[in-house]
Amino acid sequence: MVDKKHIRAYALKNALEHDGKAVVGSVIAGLFNHGLQKSQIKEIMPKIQDVLKEINSMSGQELEQEFAKLESLIGHRVERDGLAELPGVKKGSVNTRMSPSPSGPLTLGHILTIGPNYLYTKKYGGTFFIRIEDTNPENIDPKAYKMIKEESKWLCDGNVKIVIQSERMDLYYKYAQKFIDKGAAYVCTCDVDAFKDLLLKKTGCPCRSLDKKEQKKRWKNMLDKDGYKQGEAVLRFKSDITHKNPAMRDFPLARINTTPHPKQKKKYRVWPLMNLAVPVDDIEMKMTHIIRGKDHMDNSKRQKMMYKALGKEKQYPWVAFIGRLHFTDFVMSTSKMRKAIEEGKYSGWDDPKLPTVVSLKNKGYCPEAFWKYVEQRGVSETDKTISQKDFFQLIDNFEKDLKRDK
Ligand SMILES: [Zn+2]
Repeated sequence: MVDKKHIRAYALKNALEHDGKAVVGSVIAGLFNHGLQKSQIKEIMPKIQDVLKEINSMSGQELEQEFAKLESLIGHRVERDGLAELPGVKKGSVNTRMSPSPSGPLTLGHILTIGPNYLYTKKYGGTFFIRIEDTNPENIDPKAYKMIKEESKWLCDGNVKIVIQSERMDLYYKYAQKFIDKGAAYVCTCDVDAFKDLLLKKTGCPCRSLDKKEQKKRWKNMLDKDGYKQGEAVLRFKSDITHKNPAMRDFPLARINTTPHPKQKKKYRVWPLMNLAVPVDDIEMKMTHIIRGKDHMDNSKRQKMMYKALGKEKQYPWVAFIGRLHFTDFVMSTSKMRKAIEEGKYSGWDDPKLPTVVSLKNKGYCPEAFWKYVEQRGVSETDKTISQKDFFQLIDNFEKDLKRDK
């Protein structure tokens, strides 16, 4: 039976798939799947038009919220056994990773990114890495190392290899040297604003054209404690200075930061930035597939350029992006949660009101319930907006299913 709710459900789905604007034809096509007869079109048309008029004036968030209520009506949730197949995979050959920053414990946001990566290594065989990105000495909570280790082991049932980036510094230096040797990186000593001006004019700075011998000398000077001071020099990747996106032009790879590191203390003064450490680790760990937040789209492009500079373009992993989960009634941000804890709004990271892994674990949830959610959602770039109550109702239902299956 086709009623107004079904029309609404298909219209919302179509609008979400097409920048917020649903069209009559697509809605009718959907309704045909639902038993609509050609002879009924004339009768139902005014209803469709009414619905479209309303839906096409909604915001993206309203569309998502409304669709969440009606999604089940149109069998949009395909009951699949696990995630969709990955392209071109050999058994035992899928290596994936997730890279939390040690600024706090793992949260629900991390769970949703860990999910597909971990589940794919479980499905095909391979290694799932948790790579703690601690190469910014200013953004580290020393307690986070232990929390992230314990929480990721719990989430992945022990099947996770944990790697700490600050213990791999020699490797990043080795690669920095390689890029310099290949003429693909240079040490820039320009004033930041002057450099930016040139960059926007698609013009290289004077450092860019200095020869390799001079670059090597400058790099040594960056590493030397009596050399450049913090802020005086930065290692940059030599990309296409005329690239249509200014953010892709000669981006930074490493910088000097003399803040003592919680683990390495004063051992290092030059720290790799994400766009150096990430491709180095991906190459060394033989990463095959990467599923990451869609805020990393530009970084993926940068990292692919770096593979290419090393002649490893063909080895660049398969990459997919996932949208974010927004709660209508809570902002999932580690720094905001930390602030609220400090202000006494919550008792700690394990406060039952917080969606941190430790709190979810204490409440008795098992990781599989979240994996069910991850499988159902699939690898999709669409952001999702939902209230905490609705989200946890879904998770509670999965918990019930799991208990029943056991
Ligand atoms: Zn320069």
